Amino acid sequence: MSDPVATRITPGLDGAPTDVDLVVIGLGITGVGVALDAVTRGLSVLAVDAHDLAFGTSRWSSKMVHGGLRYLAQGQVGVARESAVERGILMEVTAPHLTHAMPMVVPLSSSVSRVQERLTHAGLLAGDGLRRSAGTEEETLPRPRRLTTTELMAMAPPLRSAGLRGGLLSWDGRLEDDARLVTTIARTAASYGAHVRTRARVLGATGTSVELRDELSGATHSVTARAVVNATGVWAGELVDEVSLRPSRGTHLVLRQETLPGLAVSVFAPIPGSTSRFVLVLPQPDGTIYVGLTDEAADGPVPDVPEPTEPEIGFLLDVVSAAFERQLRREDVVGAYAGLRPLLDTPSDDPDGAATTADLSRRHAVLTSRTGVVTVVGGKLTTYRQMAQDAVDAAVDGSGLAAGPCRTRDLPILGAATRTALAALEQPARLVRRYGTDAELVLESARRVTGLSDEELLAPVAPTVPVTLAELVFGVTHEGAADVDDLLDRRTRVGLVPADRPLAVPAAERALALAGRAVRHG
Ligand SMILES: Cc1cc2nc3c(=O)[nH]c(=O)nc-3n(C[C@H](O)[C@H](O)[C@H](O)COP(=O)(O)OP(=O)(O)OC[C@H]3O[C@@H](n4cnc5c(N)ncnc54)[C@H](O)[C@@H]3O)c2cc1C
Repeated sequence: MSDPVATRITPGLDGAPTDVDLVVIGLGITGVGVALDAVTRGLSVLAVDAHDLAFGTSRWSSKMVHGGLRYLAQGQVGVARESAVERGILMEVTAPHLTHAMPMVVPLSSSVSRVQERLTHAGLLAGDGLRRSAGTEEETLPRPRRLTTTELMAMAPPLRSAGLRGGLLSWDGRLEDDARLVTTIARTAASYGAHVRTRARVLGATGTSVELRDELSGATHSVTARAVVNATGVWAGELVDEVSLRPSRGTHLVLRQETLPGLAVSVFAPIPGSTSRFVLVLPQPDGTIYVGLTDEAADGPVPDVPEPTEPEIGFLLDVVSAAFERQLRREDVVGAYAGLRPLLDTPSDDPDGAATTADLSRRHAVLTSRTGVVTVVGGKLTTYRQMAQDAVDAAVDGSGLAAGPCRTRDLPILGAATRTALAALEQPARLVRRYGTDAELVLESARRVTGLSDEELLAPVAPTVPVTLAELVFGVTHEGAADVDDLLDRRTRVGLVPADRPLAVPAAERALALAGRAVRHG
């Protein structure tokens, strides 16, 4: 099966164009969204990241496709509606293969008062109203309903049953994996002709030029462009000094499924003393459970990889332990990760400027600098498509570029198909879940490149690591993975459990060698 875009995502700047219509800086969800939006309007695009696809905040999310309920509760109706509309587009058009309906329960324990129960139920019904007004099918996301204690315990057997009077069930979207969505959008942009380069750091930008450094060779590289979009998330202020951010850190724990056996739904565990805040317990498709999340101001220099703190870990363990029969201990935590929300620093009503980061707007913003750089920042993973559309609109308006209308609302990304078509695919379920209709391409190209048998290509690389060699090889041949870190920390997420990582390193090294790339560690 020939695939002309196999090598379009490449590390370094060797052979990169020096003159394009639009340069986009940053290959998180926002940047890849901009690259896809711009290239499908007919613009020539160079899209770069200093490190790798999904290196920043985009891989540290809760992996939810939000319907905006939380924003509704805060009175941010516009943000809530935008989220619900974009959730529907992502789940029904753009990426049905990478999104799933996620059942979520609120256990009605003795600590939840009848008034709280009614308020929460009303909120869930309002959330369902948002779904309907966004035009999302009930088949995609069923209606919320009340559960008896028996029903609740069947879905979530490890819950603490004493004092339970049933639960509330609702549905939201869940991503297969956030970095996988980023990678697939990048590959889609490349399939339309975008040049996607990792290990390419922008040292300086104006509205019509960027200075880059190839992080592999150290060589510098100048590119002229009609428009430049800064999609560098929490780092946006480092390239454009008119942009001011106030990042907030969100931490998640990673548990093994065996810690809370039989848990088939996500659980909202109420935070003691708060009527509206919860810790989420989120079962994942790969045998792990995430528990999150915190919201802590993270002022000061922005680290490449943020670290969770012990007090955050302790807080999450305490809240979850109160909702479940089992007292969770520090040893149950097999991984923990933190991400920084790129929140815009908007003036607060408080004369001391003391707004907490939980109050800062989750709305996105598009700002054009004095030299014409368009910065797109804020928002969330769920709304990346609208953010990209707004940014490219601003870039086109500001530069006078001749571009077609935005096409992404109706544009499936690579591997997408209807849920019925996906269910009928005969390839291994894991590959279908992660690549949709491209499952065959993944297997076929791994066969061709390695000459190995399907048995070897599809075996889990270690007993606790369901990732296969076929995926790792595809990561190198089609997804621009340049080293072991790219493969284990972004193309797959083995690195989220540090004890599993060394078990998968030999397979990652083998994939790099089989695909003819020098074996490197990041
Ligand atoms: C803990 C947490 C949980 C979240 N959960 C959810 C969720 O469940 N659902 C949801 O919808 N949203 C969620 N969000 C929000 C969402 O994750 C972010 O809004 C989104 O990922 C931001 O993406 P981005 O592309 O703007 O930034 P990033 O992903 O940070 O991308 C910026 C990129 O720019 C690159 N870069 C920086 N400087 C340069 C330079 N000079 N040259 C070249 N490249 C550069 C970086 O390497 C990076 O890859 C969550 C956020 C956090 C923090």
